[in-house]
Formats: sequence, structure tokens, C-alpha cells
Amino acid sequence: MRFATAARPSTADMLVVRSVEDARREIAAARARGEEIALVPTMGALHAGHLSLVQTACEECDFVAVSIFVNPSQFGPNEDFDKYPRAFEADLQACRECGVNLVFAPDVSTIYPDTFSTFVELEGLSDVLEGRCRPGHFRGVATVVLKLLNIVQPDVSYFGRKDYQQQAIIRRMCRDLDMPGEIRTCDTVRELDGLALSSRNRYLSDDERIAALSLSKCLKLAKQRLTAGETDVELVRREMLALLNKTRGVAVDYATIADPDSLADITAPQLEMIALVAAKVGRARLIDNLPIHLPADR
Ligand code: AMP
Repeated sequence: MRFATAARPSTADMLVVRSVEDARREIAAARARGEEIALVPTMGALHAGHLSLVQTACEECDFVAVSIFVNPSQFGPNEDFDKYPRAFEADLQACRECGVNLVFAPDVSTIYPDTFSTFVELEGLSDVLEGRCRPGHFRGVATVVLKLLNIVQPDVSYFGRKDYQQQAIIRRMCRDLDMPGEIRTCDTVRELDGLALSSRNRYLSDDERIAALSLSKCLKLAKQRLTAGETDVELVRREMLALLNKTRGVAVDYATIADPDSLADITAPQLEMIALVAAKVGRARLIDNLPIHLPADR
């Protein structure tokens, strides 16, 4: 690991820029100083999950840019774009406290001017799981992430394992399109009771929050059953679904065990697997996942 050489800026020194030109100028100056540049793309409403990426970036790189942009092109027509939580001042304060150098917070018209007409589509990986439930979602994600990577041109960009399929798609896109720079994926941050942190958790009532625990519980169940030697993957899938379906207020989109690279459902246990779940709880649509690793010598 490379240790940061530049001192983190004092909280007063964090830059907040809205235009591509301003972002590029500041980043070019950092690069000219020989600093390693990090990018943490976010949609804001920052919680401890986002901030774990920001903190890791601040530990590992010299100059950390955080983008805050609620990306309209990744929301479907009946999704929560208008209501998506926005907390800009609190986000800036949190970034300052972490030692972020630059926040890039463009307007929608900066990222998508009237004449905008180019989108990135990935075949295969985008068609399953979240892609099947949210048509067009990953087209919007891939397009905005490619734009952010082109604007910032980071040496390292940071993504959360919480959005497992998203980081897999971004890795594939960067490989397919020969994008320079490294992608680092950071672990999911959870509440003590297992609930994965999400900006959408704030939509949950107290009862719904309890119901939402069934997502992480069904993932743990899958991990326990498979690491204990269960070989009937379809049975484990049915058990995950049964746990979710018996929880009032949970409407399941999918609960499955897949190959961690292709994200295709598996039929037999393998050394590396990933359990994934998506469900609506109240008006919050939540996703979660858990990697499952079997020891090679069994
Ligand atoms: P978002 O603002 O939801 O687009 O998320 C921005 C980044 O934070 C993405 O790379 C997410 O995967 C990551 N992230 C969101 N929630 C968590 C979490 N609970 N733990 C770790 N990373 C997260």
C-alpha cells in the first residue's frame, strides 16, 4: 500500500466546485504537485457507509475528490428521484471533517446538457438482478460514472460492495473501455444489528426497520447453510425466500446465490459465491449481499 504524502487540508481549505472546468483545474494542479488522486462518487445524503469509502481514500491517496450528484438517468420514471434524500450542507461538513480536498457537485445541466445523447450500455451483467428489476438503471450508472472518471481522471476510485452488481459493472466497463486507474471496492458498513447502511433507510418506520432486518438475516442464513456443507443450492434459495416471505411488510424482488463474476445463478456450491437480495420494505427498496467463501480443502 502507498501511504499518503500530502497533508490533509484543514477543514477550511476544502474546495466546492460546480463546473467541470473548475474541477479539472484543481485536479490538474494537484497532479502537477505529484499527488495521487482519488475519486469517491456519491449521490450525497452521506452516511457512515459512504464515509468509510471517503476515509479509506483519505488514508490511501493524497488528493481526494468526492462527487455529489443525484443522477437522474439511473432512476426509472416511477422511482424516487424527486424524493431522494438531499443533505448538501451536512454532506460538506462530513467531507470537511474527513479531510476531503474537493467536492464536485455539478448541476444536472452540467452533466447532461440539452444536446447530450451518448450512453454506455453493458451487455449481460446489466441484464440480471437489479438490471432486470430496474430497466435502464445501469445504463444511467455506467454513463455517469464514465463521465465522472473522465472529468476527474483519478488514479484510484472507490466503490462500496453494498452495491455489488454496480461495482462489478463499473469494473467491467473500465476493463472493456481501457480506462486507466484502479478501482477499489470497500466492505459494506452495517448497523450493529446487521442492517446495511443506505440513504433509503431513512424512509423506514420503526416497524419497517425491524422488517428490513430480514434481508441481512436471509443472507446470513445462506452463508451458514452453505458453509455448513449444504449442497442443494436451490433448497437454500427457497429457505432465503421463505424467511423473507414470512416477514410482514417485505415484498421480495429476488433472493439468490450467484457466481461472483458473472452474477449468474449457480446450481451447485462453488468456492466463491455471492448471496444477493432485493426487497421493498414500505416505500424503501433495499438491496444487500454477502460474499460466501468455502474452504478449498473440504
Ligand atoms: P450512493 O450515494 O448510494 O450512490 O453510494 C455511493 C457509494 O457509497 C457507492 O459506491 C456505494 O456502494 C457506497 N455505499 C453505499 N452504502 C454503503 C454501505 N453501507 N457500506 C459501504 N459502502 C456503501
